[in-house]
Amino acid sequence: MSGQLLDGKAIAKEIRAEVKEEVAALRAQGIAPKMAVILVGDDPASVYYAQSKEKAANNVGIDFDFHNLPTDTKESDLLALIEKLNQDKGAHGIMVELPLPGQISTDKVMEAVLPAKDVDGIHPMNRGYILSNGPGLFPATPQSCIELMLRSGVEIEGKHAVIVGRGETVGKPLVFLLLQHNPTITICHSRTKDLASFVKQGDIVIAAVGRPNMITKEMVKPGAIVVDAGINEVEGGGYCGDVDFEGLKEVVSLISPVPGGVGSLTTSLIFKNLLKGISIQQSK
Ligand code: NDP
Repeated sequence: MSGQLLDGKAIAKEIRAEVKEEVAALRAQGIAPKMAVILVGDDPASVYYAQSKEKAANNVGIDFDFHNLPTDTKESDLLALIEKLNQDKGAHGIMVELPLPGQISTDKVMEAVLPAKDVDGIHPMNRGYILSNGPGLFPATPQSCIELMLRSGVEIEGKHAVIVGRGETVGKPLVFLLLQHNPTITICHSRTKDLASFVKQGDIVIAAVGRPNMITKEMVKPGAIVVDAGINEVEGGGYCGDVDFEGLKEVVSLISPVPGGVGSLTTSLIFKNLLKGISIQQSK
């Protein structure tokens, strides 16, 4: 391999240590950071992810309040629980696991969580704050793409960044979060003609599509920095990204693996959002 790894696991460890320190400082002031997680249904993978978040939270000193509701929960009951947690001064962050069962409107739920407790950064007000760089909470995955580069010493300013994918979860918020670091940005999507010709221009290429290994080494500029947000299930188990890691690692200067890249940081960045949310809540 000639390119260096954008090592998500190592950076996640660094962020977790920062979070642990900040949590200890808050506890010393009598504030016990607490995150409430709501899961509707009993999908085993979702229950497992919630439990691993609980473990990660406990490891950094964050209290975890898990609400596992039955699949047939009424929308009004879920909204009532969210309102109760909104009012609870001891619950500083609220995460509602998506997708929700069909009887519940995702839009209504996203709007129900108090913006300062919306650690997923999906409330319309937080989505608006991204545009104005306002005092909001922003989604973890696009933040993770940026943190991976900044904490690996990448100078983003002045570079040409090509983002492939304009999804609501990753691509779209990433555009405005990345713009704060002064690159020139090209956004590609499913209607882009001759995708390779745009990707080839990127000093930085960020893939957020959901198509296994679609960015190949012929498409990238030698020496480029490549961040892969894609998560695709592989037949027979495991995951791969949107980037052909094995092919690209020979020609790029920096590249994030899947797993071990973007996804490794997301839980730690949700905890960072919790801490930012606490400071927003205290300033009100
Ligand atoms: P969406 O499905 O919302 O968006 C996918 C985007 O890819 C769309 O903008 C679509 O274009 C574009 N696209 C589809 N096909 C092509 C193509 N052939 N060429 C160019 N662009 C194409 O995705 P999300 O934003 O929700 O997620 C993106 C990826 O990130 C997924 O793999 C997802 O699993 C992963 N993800 C990773 C997380 C992590 O923690 N690492 C967390 C969340 C998501 P158009 O808009 O024209 O349809």
